[in-house]
Amino acid sequence: MERTILHVDCNSFYASVECFLNPAIRCFPVAVCGDVENRHGIILAKNELAKRHKVATGDAVWQAQKKCPGLVCVPAHFDRYLRFSRMARAIYEDYTDRVEPFGLDECWLDLSGPGADGIRTAQEIRRRMKSEVGITVSIGVSFNKIFAKLGSDLRKPDAVTVISRDTFRETVWPLPAEALLYVGRATSRKLLLRSIRTIGDLAQADPNFLQSFLGKIGRTLQNFAAGRDAAPVRRSVETVPVKSVGNSLTSPHDLETMQDIRILTYLLTESVAARLREYGMKSRTVRLWIRDNELCSFSRQTTLRQSSCLARDLAAAALALFEKHYDWHSPVRSMGIAAANLSCPAVEQLTFFDDPSAHKAERLENSLDDIRRRFGNPAVRRGVVLLNDSLAKTDIQAEHIIHPVSYFR
Ligand SMILES: [Mg+2]
Repeated sequence: MERTILHVDCNSFYASVECFLNPAIRCFPVAVCGDVENRHGIILAKNELAKRHKVATGDAVWQAQKKCPGLVCVPAHFDRYLRFSRMARAIYEDYTDRVEPFGLDECWLDLSGPGADGIRTAQEIRRRMKSEVGITVSIGVSFNKIFAKLGSDLRKPDAVTVISRDTFRETVWPLPAEALLYVGRATSRKLLLRSIRTIGDLAQADPNFLQSFLGKIGRTLQNFAAGRDAAPVRRSVETVPVKSVGNSLTSPHDLETMQDIRILTYLLTESVAARLREYGMKSRTVRLWIRDNELCSFSRQTTLRQSSCLARDLAAAALALFEKHYDWHSPVRSMGIAAANLSCPAVEQLTFFDDPSAHKAERLENSLDDIRRRFGNPAVRRGVVLLNDSLAKTDIQAEHIIHPVSYFR
């Protein structure tokens, strides 16, 4: 039976959340920056107004400010994005338990079943997200994940795009090959050299020829282009017991410097650590997963001397793994960090190697939790020293600035 799959993409997610929580900045061009204090920090997200000034994700802050002199730069607040991401998930789960997140702001939903009406459900989700969560989404409706994802990219913001089996040749095939998920810059360059410009060209190319210069992924990409993608939407992870807590991120541009890697590492570990604390767990193992822009990936893991639920410790371990195992043969495209080997601190014994600064840091985290309990859900700002080489050694106190800006929900 034909499947009904939605891909929901929250538009300008980080910037939308910041603008929703701070209406005073809504009428200005806004960018969420990895490090606001540092001119060389990068832009992580921007709103529509900033987009009009050609501010792009991955720009250095100074570049973006040059393009758009009145740009309002705000720091990233990962806890907030996580909270909004959960609110979105709760809405999606009203329609199906087959919800697979792709990063914080995107999800696939499998609605397949008798009487499924993908378009009507997509329109309803689009309206509910705007009124109940306060942000706009674009949704692709299709018969597989790849085309659903492509549909959500075709029209934005606040739109629903349908790509059906009957129409995909007209809709999808004229698009440039790189519009297809997993066709990165390097791959599209190789395709262009052989005059394969569009998704249609890719679909109709000789698979052996594709494999000759792209390897196995050549055949996979061709199947995607031809609408042959049978990958299932994985069920919500919330329903299985938590064995590891992880997060991954695909960058919209190739990452070529340690500075970019540090920023992503911190963003990822911030969210992983926040979730560990929420579950009341600590982790003993940190896993790093890297995919380069040629789609080659590897993962490595390391054991912490002491279990931790602190972004500081997870980030230090992940960065050490990266520096030890990545030789920069090509730029990095995606990165994931997971905390595994989980335990509950209540049953954990103090060890001889106890790190006193970790206790200090934990007391600080506990007081953050206190503040949250007392004031409902105050916004807690984390000022992060991102570009400092001694990041791993930074005193945790310097990393946290408690700054209740606004209270919500
Ligand atoms: Mg998005």
